[in-house]
Amino acid sequence: MSLNERRTLAERITWVQTSIHQACIRSNRAPNSVELLAVSKNHPAENIQLAWELGLKNFGENYAQELRDKAAQLAGLHGLRWHAIGPVQKKNAKYIAQSAWAFHALDNLGLAEKLSQQRQGEPLRCFVQLNLSNEPQKNGLRPEALASFLQAVSALRGLHICGLSCLPPASAEPEKSRPYFQTLATLAHAHQLSELSMGTTQDFHIAIEEGATWVRVGTALFGGR
Ligand SMILES: *Cc1c(COP(=O)(O)O)cnc(C)c1O
Repeated sequence: MSLNERRTLAERITWVQTSIHQACIRSNRAPNSVELLAVSKNHPAENIQLAWELGLKNFGENYAQELRDKAAQLAGLHGLRWHAIGPVQKKNAKYIAQSAWAFHALDNLGLAEKLSQQRQGEPLRCFVQLNLSNEPQKNGLRPEALASFLQAVSALRGLHICGLSCLPPASAEPEKSRPYFQTLATLAHAHQLSELSMGTTQDFHIAIEEGATWVRVGTALFGGR
């Protein structure tokens, strides 16, 4: 990695952290109430290591095998936490159970059972992902199924349901995400879940205004994929 690339990454991190800070101030929130999850999918392990050297500690991956491989490559980096943020097939649950600190896309009981069976040590922090936009091809649990889902997973050892997550439909207008973020916040509150994983490069500032505790930012940190 060249000095130039290093400088670019450092500047991007500063820009994202400043934007988070400003969104917190605007919405009367404590700046440390929002965690930055750096989405590193499709970017090489060296870039993650550099971001870690520059102070980031939480990294999000979409693909179970990619997470497994990067976790092995970067096993020596102190304090680094892996977050699985994409859909996971049951046969790959073991990689998440072994390597992830948190999972942001839990949406079915079969997968929850597999993760529960495979998890050792401290419980896996899970966010239940909701499909709030009625897009049929989209991952996520329908909101009307949330109550019974939470009831069912509460019986499983090795998992701790800490909050909800969503990914609104892609749009050129970030404001279009706001109603989805509001709905997610309302549902989390109704079910006494304290964490909200929502907001990406294009709309994390709005997600923070609506209560996000984790923002998942890729492109603004690492560039295009
Ligand atoms: C890729 C991805 C992100 C990051 O998106 P950017 O636009 O690159 O910030 C966040 N969340 C999920 C679920 C993703 O798949």
